[in-house]
Amino acid sequence: MLIYIAGSGAMGCRFGYQLSKTNHEVILLDNWADHIKAVNEQGLRVTGDIEETVQIPMMLPSQATRQADLIILFTKAMQLTTMLSDIQSLIGSDTKVLCLLNGLGHQEVISQYVPLKNILMGVTVWTAGLPEPGHVNLKGVGTVNLQSIDPAEKEAGQAVAQVLNEAGLNATYDEDVVPSIWRKACVNGSMNSTCALVDCTIGQFFASQEGKDLVKAIIHEFVIVAKAEGVVLNEDEMVQYVMDTSIKAAHHYPSMHQDLVQNKRLTEIDYLNGAVNQMGQKHGIDTPVCRTITQLIHAKESLFQNK
Ligand code: NAD
Repeated sequence: MLIYIAGSGAMGCRFGYQLSKTNHEVILLDNWADHIKAVNEQGLRVTGDIEETVQIPMMLPSQATRQADLIILFTKAMQLTTMLSDIQSLIGSDTKVLCLLNGLGHQEVISQYVPLKNILMGVTVWTAGLPEPGHVNLKGVGTVNLQSIDPAEKEAGQAVAQVLNEAGLNATYDEDVVPSIWRKACVNGSMNSTCALVDCTIGQFFASQEGKDLVKAIIHEFVIVAKAEGVVLNEDEMVQYVMDTSIKAAHHYPSMHQDLVQNKRLTEIDYLNGAVNQMGQKHGIDTPVCRTITQLIHAKESLFQNK
């Protein structure tokens, strides 16, 4: 099987590295020149739980020529449309396209480029970091849940899960993956955005009653909009899960803090709280907290964009 990783930053390199250990052919696609140069000249350096340097081909999407059997999308959410447009020639009539990005609304975007029968949606709790070009840092273990959007393609979806399992990626074919995608978006939308705005760790944010109350209000908006979209999230269980996670991850700065505060990069807020606000409007549901959080994150992004 020929597998392209479309967007080979932190997560793309994790999946590409693990898949390169199987019998499948893996090609990393990215458009970051320094990263491509480092990987092609020195190999992909892996640190963390494993210390190894591996040779995996990496190129610009425009340099790839063969149509893929499987494409795993791993851009940031706001980069997805451009990537899909850039890889059009690599998508054949039987190419399966798996989306493991965080956030909501990606299926609608992907369906403009890929027939529904070939789309697989999923969610992963693996993590990865990219401290410098050509260097991925891998710690901890995770899972992948995925599903073919077209029920008639269940077997093909199970085959993709099998390929990921050959790489030790702990994949499960999920009969109903959409609630898991919403659940992760809700966790990110309540913990990441708030800590990025207040510039603090998860533990620091949850130390105040005001912080906890704000998180509960965000979760409530996710739950009522999910319900309008036909997705059931148990609000009490969701609140409990987020509160428990805030204790376990108390010293952690969430990824949106790393993006916005530490690295001054744009965030995926429009696909988290922003998406809930947009979908809420469609259903006539007001989501003032998610809307305000989205506006504040964009205001903070504009501080470095306007420089
Ligand atoms: P990243 O920024 O490290 O990687 C994205 C890569 O895509 C970059 O290297 C970028 O150069 C490349 N890219 C973007 N547009 C491109 C284009 N048009 N052509 C070629 N290359 C392009 O991001 P990441 O941390 O790997 O996250 C990817 C997704 O996975 C996000 O949705 C994120 O929320 C999610 N996620 C991340 C983690 C994590 O631990 N990093 C964990 C779970 C889920």
